[in-house]
Amino acid sequence: MRAAVFLDRDGTLIEGEGYLGDPAGVRAIPGVRDALGALGARGWLRIVVTNQSGVARGLFTAGDYDAVTRAVDRAVGPLDGYYACFHLAGGGVSPWNVPCDCRKPLPGLIVRAARELGVDVARSVLVGDDLRDLSAARAAGVEPVLVRTGKGARNERLLALKGLAGVRVFDSVVEFAATLPVVGAEVLP
Ligand SMILES: [Mg+2]
Repeated sequence: MRAAVFLDRDGTLIEGEGYLGDPAGVRAIPGVRDALGALGARGWLRIVVTNQSGVARGLFTAGDYDAVTRAVDRAVGPLDGYYACFHLAGGGVSPWNVPCDCRKPLPGLIVRAARELGVDVARSVLVGDDLRDLSAARAAGVEPVLVRTGKGARNERLLALKGLAGVRVFDSVVEFAATLPVVGAEVLP
C-alpha cells in the first residue's frame, strides 16, 4: 500500500477555473513540474482527480479531455494516474447526464483510484482549490489541503462556514509539496 498525493487539476496544477477543452490552453502553475517530480522521487504516488462536467454540458468531448490530459502530463508530469468525472445530472449529453458517485464533493473518484492503485488513504492527502475537493477528501478518509491558486484564495475565508475549519492552507501545491517527507511502501507479511 502506497501513500498518495491526490491532486485537483484546474486551479491546482494548471491555471484557470475549468471547462478546458483545448490542449493549447494548458498552462502549468509555476514550479509544479519540478515539485511533483520531487514528490515521486520521495515515494509518493501522484494522482489527479478532476471534475470535468464540461463533457456532460456539451462544452467539449471525452476525446478533447484526453487530448488536454496528454498536454497536462507533458506540462507537469509524468504522473501516476488521471481520474475524471464527466457527469452532471441534468446535463445535455448522454450517457454523462445522470447522477453519479464520483463528482466531487462525493468521494467516488478517490475511492476508485485508491482501490486500483493500491493507495493507503490514511497516509494520503488531497490538494485542491475548491471546497468540493476538501469535502471529497474528508469523505474518502484523506487529509484535505487547500491551496490559494485558482479559486483557493476566495475559498479560504469560507472554510469555517463550510465546516472545514482546521484545514491546512498553502500558497500553492509547490509550497505544500516541499513539506512532504520521504515515504516507503508498506511491507506486508
Ligand atoms: Mg480546481
